Amino acid sequence: MHEQGYAWSDKSGEPAAAATFVALERAIASSDPHHLALYKRTQDWWRRHSLRAADASALYPDVYFRRMADDIEISWLDRQPSFAPDGFLLALRPGYALLPVRAVAEPLWQFLDWATTTAITQSEADTSRVALLRSDFLKLRRTPVSELEVRHVGTSIQSMLTDARRDMALEHELNLVDDIPAIEHLDAAVLMFGGINVAIEECDVNRLVQFLHRYRGGIEKGVLHEITGNPEVELWCPPYEEGYRLAEEVRDELGIPANQLFVDIQHILDCLGIAIEDVELATDSVRGVAVAGSGFSPAIMVNTKSAFNANTAGRRFTLAHELCHILFDRTHARKISHVSGPWAPARTEKRANAFAAMFLASNASLAKRLDGVDQVKIAQLAKEAGIGYSALVEHLYNVDLIGDNERERLRGL
Ligand SMILES: [Zn+2]
Repeated sequence: MHEQGYAWSDKSGEPAAAATFVALERAIASSDPHHLALYKRTQDWWRRHSLRAADASALYPDVYFRRMADDIEISWLDRQPSFAPDGFLLALRPGYALLPVRAVAEPLWQFLDWATTTAITQSEADTSRVALLRSDFLKLRRTPVSELEVRHVGTSIQSMLTDARRDMALEHELNLVDDIPAIEHLDAAVLMFGGINVAIEECDVNRLVQFLHRYRGGIEKGVLHEITGNPEVELWCPPYEEGYRLAEEVRDELGIPANQLFVDIQHILDCLGIAIEDVELATDSVRGVAVAGSGFSPAIMVNTKSAFNANTAGRRFTLAHELCHILFDRTHARKISHVSGPWAPARTEKRANAFAAMFLASNASLAKRLDGVDQVKIAQLAKEAGIGYSALVEHLYNVDLIGDNERERLRGL
């Protein structure tokens, strides 16, 4: 119910069932000793998240549970059991669903309660097994909240967060699902470090928590409120397509003509009442941070240490990327505290990148100005659009304005 980060680096953004299966297969096939350790970690993760890992009969479907901010992702494969009885077939195709924590935790909890109190036993061994399950279940009920949170952020971040909260006299805000040991809404600071699996220093944890603290208690402008939403994640829709569609919708709502090439992102953020801070963190792995929603006034932090933000074009891209998070990545509690970096869920990051590209350089505006494809002309176009040269080349390719050969040529390879 609480662990989000994988034990390996995931660039696919696929749901846990697919991502874990691929990671296990990749690690087991390798003769590299480094991969053996990785296999062990991946298998441990699998044990904590896959229903099949707890199923001695090996007949249940390959279903995975994974925390995603304040949702639970349930995902499944259609792998058939190896030793199924005749005529036994799992019929569901692979897929996934995102549900509020309460909607998942409550029925699972009720099931455990029912199963351990009403189980009919036929032997002494059965009876003692059920008694053991019952006592495990009762022990689970008494799990301290800190142990639940630690699953989300890991011990070292948790202890740094505790120190930071104490130093800044910050409240620790979270909601449990009634008397079930499942956190329905995570504390905003905890949410920030959700998928983290890279080393981050205490000074950076403090800077991030201070940033959160500065924007606490504010409200957001009506105009921003009107365009925010939690778009349904469409199973069939690749994240970049979603990002493009959302960018076009937002451009439209803000009255930016489809064929306008340069978009003044800084001015737009000002109009939306979104504060911007440039901060130098010790780590270069954080690109930007977004805070907004219930209980916060909206703000973006740009990490000047990140290579992404080394020039104006890259910084503009980060601002548009974080705008996407502010608009569309809110939790059920209608808040967002998101750190953009290699550990953030790949699907969210891919969508925000596609949003940024399309928001800063719409398809129509590029198509209109694209006359001839050579490095000089594309460099000029990138300058006019205010986005980086290689970001533009990738974007032109992704929206089918140039083909494979042209992309290779422009990359100078
Ligand atoms: Zn991001």
